[in-house]
Amino acid sequence: MILRQFIDYPSYTYTYLVADEASGSACLIDPVLENCEAYEKRLSELGLTLVLAIDTHVHADHITGLGKLREMTGCASMAGLEAGVSCATDTFSDGDRLTIGALSLLCLHTPGHTGESYCFYLENAVQPCFFTGDTLLIRGSGRTDFQNGSAEALYHSLRRLLQYSDQTIVYPGHDYNGNTSSTIGEERAHNPRIGIEDMDAFIEHMGNLNLPDPKMMDVAVAANQACGELQPPVGEH
Ligand code: FE
Repeated sequence: MILRQFIDYPSYTYTYLVADEASGSACLIDPVLENCEAYEKRLSELGLTLVLAIDTHVHADHITGLGKLREMTGCASMAGLEAGVSCATDTFSDGDRLTIGALSLLCLHTPGHTGESYCFYLENAVQPCFFTGDTLLIRGSGRTDFQNGSAEALYHSLRRLLQYSDQTIVYPGHDYNGNTSSTIGEERAHNPRIGIEDMDAFIEHMGNLNLPDPKMMDVAVAANQACGELQPPVGEH
């Protein structure tokens, strides 16, 4: 298996390239529009063919590369059923398995950060790993105050992830402190939000964060529902 992690500095978004070496098939998770040429260069250097591009959720802080990558490479672009992304080649639902050569990504619908958030569990790797999007971050979690976010749903989604083994590697959708990966065991022991065991206390904690809106929220959400194509402004004309 080949696994590479890319960072988009303006949004601190992590994008993952997961590939099956034997078949040369590759998948990109949470690609960023402006970085598509860099992904293509890396794919070509490694002799890989992009077969799939997927998003963990409709992002509010960057524009997705899903549409552009499909144009550039002919790959399939997929989003969760709940995302309502009509331009995607296809959708996945909870329990679906996406195939990348001999590798298999199990899709888990984990609402909370947003209503349509998913985590992807790479189940047949030497060491299993989770691509957790913004559901589980290193020592944190995504916020729950927009896009059908729900602290109660996030509480249950985090508990669902904790059912996996402590050795499972966690690859988050962002990190604002320079951390690149963790494990389920590490997060179980040290993640302060997971440490809030009482659901009502968790909901109260998430309701009191008072975070500013992401800078790109107004353009990014609309664009990402169209696979990364910017939408004309709505209003008088
Ligand atoms: Fe997000």
